[in-house]
Amino acid sequence: MAIEKRRGRPVYLDNHATTAVDQRVVEAMLPYFSDKFGNPHSGSHFYGWEVAEAVEVARAQVAETISAQPEEIYFMSGATEANNLAIKGVAHFYRERKNHIITCVSEHMCVLDTCFQMEKEGNRVTYLNVDQDGMIDLDELNDAVCDDTVLISIMTVQNEIGVIQPMAEIGAIAREKNIFLHSDAAQALGKIPLDVKELNINLMSITGHKVYGPMGLGALYVSNKPRIRLEPIFSGGGQEKTLRSGTLPAPLCIGFGKTCELALAEMPAEAERLQKMRDGLLASLTGRLDGILVNGSMEHRVPGNLNISFEGADAESVMAALPDLAMSSGSACTSASEESSYVLQAIGLTSDMAENSLRIGLGRFNTQDEIDYAAERLIDEITKVRSGRKKIANAAAE
Ligand SMILES: *Cc1c(COP(=O)(O)O)cnc(C)c1O
Repeated sequence: MAIEKRRGRPVYLDNHATTAVDQRVVEAMLPYFSDKFGNPHSGSHFYGWEVAEAVEVARAQVAETISAQPEEIYFMSGATEANNLAIKGVAHFYRERKNHIITCVSEHMCVLDTCFQMEKEGNRVTYLNVDQDGMIDLDELNDAVCDDTVLISIMTVQNEIGVIQPMAEIGAIAREKNIFLHSDAAQALGKIPLDVKELNINLMSITGHKVYGPMGLGALYVSNKPRIRLEPIFSGGGQEKTLRSGTLPAPLCIGFGKTCELALAEMPAEAERLQKMRDGLLASLTGRLDGILVNGSMEHRVPGNLNISFEGADAESVMAALPDLAMSSGSACTSASEESSYVLQAIGLTSDMAENSLRIGLGRFNTQDEIDYAAERLIDEITKVRSGRKKIANAAAE
């Protein structure tokens, strides 16, 4: 019955994976694909100048969103590249002086894999644990710090469970001990206020496509004070003050600037709306289903995130029964990796409960109608999957 109510494309509930580009961002970018097509690095004529000027406006828009200076923003292809450059850049430049890096077990794979690589190259890396809420322990961080520590890299918001780390407290520790602090803020930009000076963050990775901007464009913030030296990864023409060679994709930079402007202006109202829808969805589910486990802290969490495990209902079967909802899960067969989510395992879930988990990511373009529909459908299908399971179990027992 419910399916007939809804024709057309599935309801998109996977806004942590990527987001639709806001139409206002598309419009800001369009002229720079065709009419204003110059190379922003062409210093000898009008075509270059007009694009360079627009790119600098965008850089200022990005900077303002995180309370940085425009000179502290370096455009690159996304958060993966920014994370690589932040960690490798510091490790390579300072390796002879300081060798130790601190990160945490629930980081995005692009941070963890970069740290594994740094270990192979001779760095020592400490991986902080997270508790059952997904939070790091500041005492454990304090204990891990030593004279040799050059960098702490802790993500602001976790991409599966939406948990927000205490960045201000981490920043205070880093500052006191004279250690650089990097944060992967891909899931934080536009979701919670970010002030790099207040938080004492020295390096921050952000990306467009998680916040209604274009794919393939992000930035690394690098503080001027204290000055941080990074060894670049790319050799080439020396663009972005030699930190990132390669022609800037000007239309994407301009789109990201608009993305940030909108994020800054709309975040308070958007956060409130998303949190209300998210909390309503959770209330509907817990009101009509038992055996629900919310993964990660509800208190320290971005408004649009819900990550829940349903006892006796594996995510694979639930999602197969719900082609009209686009969600993701912590189970093995639905994601690129072979194992169930290392993040859910890190917060203490059994692999069974990890495989029963759904990640629901609400975003700017979701409507209350869609969320009501999703709640109904989830309750129906989870109930069916569970009773199917019971029948099989009973038959086996007879
Ligand atoms: C998506 C994401 C990334 C990767 O960003 P890209 O711009 O796609 O390279 C890194 N970290 C987190 C937390 C993310 O959510």
